[in-house]
Amino acid sequence: MTHEAKCQCGQLSLTCEGEPDFVLVCNCVQCQRRSGSAFAIGAFFRRDNTNLSGTHKKWSRLGSSGQPLINHFCPDCGTNLFWAPKVRPDHYGVAAGCLTSTVKEPETAIWMSEKLPWLAFPEPWVKHDKGVAKSG
Ligand SMILES: [Zn+2]
Ligand SMILES: [Zn+2]
Repeated sequence: MTHEAKCQCGQLSLTCEGEPDFVLVCNCVQCQRRSGSAFAIGAFFRRDNTNLSGTHKKWSRLGSSGQPLINHFCPDCGTNLFWAPKVRPDHYGVAAGCLTSTVKEPETAIWMSEKLPWLAFPEPWVKHDKGVAKSG
């Protein structure tokens, strides 16, 4: 199956072949800021399987790993469509809320230490207080 992620105005899109290798929820404060929401859902697709269309801008910050993480966003509407953690050179994290189709349920939640207090995630998920070694 082919998934497509689109920004709000629609000029920027990322098509992703196949299914994401993994889907995770991140509760870190930076992801709260980036998404403007309680947590972020990242669907991680192999970069080789993605195709970008439209113009985009980049903004880089240091991830919790100490390695850069580059956010790619639409210069018109500001949607942060995907991000490229240096610690995961083969994958893009795609904002799952921007996908036009559904991907599998997340199986992992990271940065539980920064989670909003009223949130609870399903019992079977693997939970980490901080990032996992390659969470970015
Ligand atoms: Zn846009
Ligand atoms: Zn995060």
